[in-house]
Amino acid sequence: MTDASHFISTRGQAPRANFAEVLLAGLAPDGGLYVPAAWPHLSESQISGFAGARYQDVAFEILSRFAGNAFAAADLKSDIDAAYAGFSDRAIAPLREIAKDEYLLELFHGPTFAFKDIALQILGRLFARALQARGGKATIVAATSGDTGSAAIAALGGLPNIQVFVLHPRGRISDVQRRQMTTSPHANVHNIALEGSFDDAQALVKGLFAETAFASEIGLTAVNSINFVRIAAQSVYYFTATAALGRAANFIVPTGNFGDIFAGDAAGRMGLGIERLVIATNQNDIMARALNDGVYAEGSVHHTISPSMDIQVASNFERALFEASNRDAGWTAAAMSDFARMRKLVLPPLVLENLRARYSAFASDDAQTLATIKRIHDATGQIIDPHTAVAAAAVAHLTTPGPKVILSTAHPAKFSDAVARAISLAPPMPPPLAALDKLPEKLDILPNSLPLLRQFISSRLAAWT
Ligand SMILES: *Cc1c(COP(=O)(O)O)cnc(C)c1O
Repeated sequence: MTDASHFISTRGQAPRANFAEVLLAGLAPDGGLYVPAAWPHLSESQISGFAGARYQDVAFEILSRFAGNAFAAADLKSDIDAAYAGFSDRAIAPLREIAKDEYLLELFHGPTFAFKDIALQILGRLFARALQARGGKATIVAATSGDTGSAAIAALGGLPNIQVFVLHPRGRISDVQRRQMTTSPHANVHNIALEGSFDDAQALVKGLFAETAFASEIGLTAVNSINFVRIAAQSVYYFTATAALGRAANFIVPTGNFGDIFAGDAAGRMGLGIERLVIATNQNDIMARALNDGVYAEGSVHHTISPSMDIQVASNFERALFEASNRDAGWTAAAMSDFARMRKLVLPPLVLENLRARYSAFASDDAQTLATIKRIHDATGQIIDPHTAVAAAAVAHLTTPGPKVILSTAHPAKFSDAVARAISLAPPMPPPLAALDKLPEKLDILPNSLPLLRQFISSRLAAWT
């Protein structure tokens, strides 16, 4: 095995793991995040050779370097092909030019119309395969503010040996988002509408993990964005976009939990030439403040029209800190524990300098987001969703040369209310989303109570065996 297929924790206290172990575990046992012991390296000619290649073949080239011998090459290949077979655009992640040297990288052509499908469709299949090899069953519990839940259900619904519980805050997600989850026909999918907020839902999930006896009895696992396999799968479109453009680009990324933009950083560490990685946030601007002021400090959550980015603490930032400290796990562990106590971390000069060498960061508020949706619609006829618009709004600040690639993370029909506010026009509803209206919904309403949640999960699991 190469170092690229061995994984270590950012906090330095976990045994090395392989790709399948990292996939099944999510979080490292010392509380850190898994990163490869060394980044794999692709040569310039390998990367330029990706121009015109099938997206699935590029994905195999990248993922196989991390997978080592944890999966047979033929299995990995067939899971990647199956993952993208249902995408509505053959290019999987097509580039669309909207102005001179300015492009949308469309990542929403999967089954749930947001970019989470690109990684979760692969992750679900590999997860089932790894679980079968290891033996046993898994219970996945996820809290969602909308997009992650539907993508997880689309990826894991109907798979053997896996039960999926998704908690959403009752009444706080859009109708489309709710129906995407509650109309799943699969018996292993359990939707819980929680009487509480997204933060309450997340706290309950954390509470379940903290009940270690119960957690190990049910094989509790998470598939949230700290899972390294998601990062690896998301790095692929940075390669395909750059190869198609033929030169180093600026990537402008609507950022919440820092997973998508760190995938770009990962691509750079694998040898991809990148001009700038631009962190675009809404009013939840912890990342913009960290980069610009040098202080990573939690604020209070603002509810915005780009709700999938209404996050204060960007979990994957730990990976960027580990790299920016020149892989100093001792410092990273101490920094994260300071942050957990003080909710604030002053970035040392070396770390800040290394971060600024790669990343820039800009924040936009809802008014700027709405104005950007309108500006682009007026200029091009193209309708973008509010998350994409947060990124498009940041383009004006860029001074570096090279093409500007805006990551377009959701289909506008998923957020039609905000879009209609911007352009007085509802985006056309794709037939699969319109059809959800006619399907029966399946969900249980639970109060915000850890014992009741535990009881609910136990009774569903008892009925399953
Ligand atoms: C999850 C999500 C984001 C943020 O991605 P991170 O990896 O959490 O930074 C942006 N846009 C949409 C539509 C999303 O669903």
